[in-house]
Amino acid sequence: MADKSIFIDTTKCTACRGCQIACKQWNKNPATKTTQRGSHQNPADLNVATFKLVRFSESETDGKLQWYFFPDQCRHCVEPPCKVVADDKAKGAILHDEKTGAVIFNPKVKIKPADFKEIKESCPYDIPRYNTQTGAMAKCTMCIDRMKEGLLPACVKTCPTGAMSFGDRKAMLEMANKALEVAKKKYKEAMLADANDVRVIFLLSDDPKKYHKKAVAGNMTGITRKVALRRIFKPFKEIQWIG
Ligand code: SF4
Ligand code: SF4
Repeated sequence: MADKSIFIDTTKCTACRGCQIACKQWNKNPATKTTQRGSHQNPADLNVATFKLVRFSESETDGKLQWYFFPDQCRHCVEPPCKVVADDKAKGAILHDEKTGAVIFNPKVKIKPADFKEIKESCPYDIPRYNTQTGAMAKCTMCIDRMKEGLLPACVKTCPTGAMSFGDRKAMLEMANKALEVAKKKYKEAMLADANDVRVIFLLSDDPKKYHKKAVAGNMTGITRKVALRRIFKPFKEIQWIG
């Protein structure tokens, strides 16, 4: 199985939240109690039972109110800093599948809260969440269980507008670059978010900060250093499938 990627064209996203529900359903994650916060976005943030969250924000551009929808999830980083830290702090808690590139968590590995804090802080996109009941972490798995059966990730399969695509990484990068060319004709700020570093590639039509403060990676000097050290001292090695 070749290296995989998901391409998310936010210019086609209507914030229907079908992907969010499909993710919850497939992963048998329980409902999250929500409150009316004056926003279409609910719940307020990712949590142990919400691996995919359609973020919703508004911004005024040239006197016009614009809506920005961002179906947030783990980016399945090409060099995942969360795994570098987990390898030090909670061996086996995070695995990197060599066949697909999916970065997956092992719900059977218990992590100390202080160690989890370091894992969470290493993620440039603030994705991992801690299950206080089980002591394990939780996040999107890229639907590795579905991939093993030749199925699309549940969120991709469900999207009714064609905003999400899944396939071999090379093909997804090509698709993303072609879509960017088209988007640039309408949106001069259009960009691909960290495309070379992640396996979940977002096409954004405007400044990433208008979508979400963690839509793109910030300055991660400390982690970048750790990843560099890992490359020098510990060559990338194969990991096993879960299940
Ligand atoms: S987005 Fe965060 S949790 Fe996901 S692979 Fe990258 S560092 Fe790890
Ligand atoms: S790939 Fe699977 S686990 Fe990840 S957000 Fe989509 S449905 Fe959820």
